[in-house]
Amino acid sequence: MACERTLSILKPDATARNITGKINAKFEENGLRIIAQRRVRLTRAEAECFYAVHKERSFFADLCTFMNSGPVVVQVLEGENAIIKNRDIMGATNPKEAAPGTIRALFGLSIDQNTVHGSDAAETAAREIAFFFRETEILG
Ligand code: ADP
Ligand code: MG
Repeated sequence: MACERTLSILKPDATARNITGKINAKFEENGLRIIAQRRVRLTRAEAECFYAVHKERSFFADLCTFMNSGPVVVQVLEGENAIIKNRDIMGATNPKEAAPGTIRALFGLSIDQNTVHGSDAAETAAREIAFFFRETEILG
């Protein structure tokens, strides 16, 4: 088992509904530690840069508009196999397909407003953590 770090974002639908604490409790109950956290309003350009891997996809413009629509909480989660563990806690991209008890099943509104982002692999986790945090801001 490897101790890993992953980048998590509580999306604008989560901050709008004041459920960030409920979501953070899910991470902590499942053994992930929040070792860095900041509430930010992404500019449209920052959202486009963060999601650049999806720039050819039909949903890219709507995704960036949504991520710019209100505050988000960016955070680094740490724990055993944190990357895949967080993906399991999040549930499937489409809340309608997410397993019962997952964050997206519990709180997701739609495939666009699906409440959380989580890195999908070690390389993306490293890139996404560095996008938001300096090493001195991460207190493991
Ligand atoms: P995930 O967030 O589960 O890693 P992706 O990386 O594939 O999913 O997509 C990034 C985000 O883009 C999703 O969380 C979702 O908000 C949005 N998205 C993905 N696929 C669609 C789609 N078919 N229609 C609308 N939005 C989508
Ligand atoms: Mg993804």
